[in-house]
Amino acid sequence: MSDSPFIIVGAGIAGLATSLGLARIGRSSLVLEKAPDFTALGAGLQLGPNAVAALQWLGVWDALSPHCVAPREIHIRDGVTGAVLQRVALGADFENRFGAPYRVAHRNDLHNALLQVVHQYPGITLAPNVEVTGVSITSTTLTINSGKSLKAKAIIAADGVNSIVRNTMHGGNRASSGHTIYRALVPVGSVPQNVDMEVVTLWLYPGGHVVHYAVSNGELFNIVASVVEGKTTPATAFQRACRPLADILNAQKTWTAWPARDVKPKPAWSKNQTLLIGDAAHASLPYMAQGAAMALEDACVLAIAIRNSREIETAFGNFAKARVARASDIQKQSRRLGKIYHAQGLLRQARNMFLQRTSPRRFMDRLSWIYDWKIPKE
Ligand SMILES: Cc1cc2nc3c(=O)[nH]c(=O)nc-3n(C[C@H](O)[C@H](O)[C@H](O)COP(=O)(O)OP(=O)(O)OC[C@H]3O[C@@H](n4cnc5c(N)ncnc54)[C@H](O)[C@@H]3O)c2cc1C
Repeated sequence: MSDSPFIIVGAGIAGLATSLGLARIGRSSLVLEKAPDFTALGAGLQLGPNAVAALQWLGVWDALSPHCVAPREIHIRDGVTGAVLQRVALGADFENRFGAPYRVAHRNDLHNALLQVVHQYPGITLAPNVEVTGVSITSTTLTINSGKSLKAKAIIAADGVNSIVRNTMHGGNRASSGHTIYRALVPVGSVPQNVDMEVVTLWLYPGGHVVHYAVSNGELFNIVASVVEGKTTPATAFQRACRPLADILNAQKTWTAWPARDVKPKPAWSKNQTLLIGDAAHASLPYMAQGAAMALEDACVLAIAIRNSREIETAFGNFAKARVARASDIQKQSRRLGKIYHAQGLLRQARNMFLQRTSPRRFMDRLSWIYDWKIPKE
């Protein structure tokens, strides 16, 4: 393959990480971003050991790690009774088992760390304010908002769940989950004092769930509430919440809402010299907290596939072969978890009993297929 620039559409987590993966194997890239700057939207992100391993390989971990919070445990609780159903310890044993730590971070901190490393590579060109408005997959050409056409050696579409490239390749096939996600980020001082800041808590509730944890060196508190559409806001959706959960929901603030969406698992991710990556390829509901992690894994696997292949099409095909099953499993499990988290009646009772009777070690075994991911042999 000759070393002409790859054009990456989108400077989100997938796009920036991909530019770094390419730089690591000596390939230059041009990253087109429709936003006028590179500020990330959103709030907190959980970074499991697989995400951390990818960040280490991409050379980003040292820039990000000082801004992360290292939680002591994850607690899963019933949002009506308050009962703790499961505790996952995230200390040394966890880190030794998976070879990397579990951390939580503000999305801006991750984005800034990616950008900081991107700026160290002269071979990566960032082009803000450039929106891709059309794509020809047969001629590997992009049309941008100025009306200009850009001919690419290869197009890597990292343009998120609403990807114009994906829609061109497959037609619009986004799926709606029927859930609305509310997010809030507040100073830790405004959170009830009895909240343990070293714990990531997941509250399960009939028709909804809530996750919260501290980010940004413990200065900010991230709260995410998912509710079934029609239940309107967290205030109306969680009326039977136990006291500690109600206090957290009442303590704050301004919610930002958006519909939870994913895309259908398993359609082809590449055609000719055009490839989908990150959410553009396999957006999932955020219930396994793995979307960003998958995008980071993608970036590592793609770089290695390109280095090991003579042709771009072969590299893209090998990348998809290596990634589709895993990403599709995350998509399907995330949908399934939505149902389990929001269970009512008998299903809720069975879920609670299962969680309470499962030892933390066995519970961890069930998560190991996600966290035990390793960089492919180079
Ligand atoms: C509530 C919530 C909680 C989450 N929590 C976690 C978590 O704890 N852990 C985790 O790993 N993941 C989590 N995720 C998932 C994660 O945020 C996403 O999977 C990840 O951000 C996807 O990155 P991306 O770069 O593929 O897409 P995006 O972040 O959507 O980036 C796409 C980029 O492309 C640009 N773009 C789009 N169209 C064009 C165009 N036509 N031309 C030019 N540029 C364009 C956009 O402006 C954007 O910058 C969560 C998601 C949500 C919604």
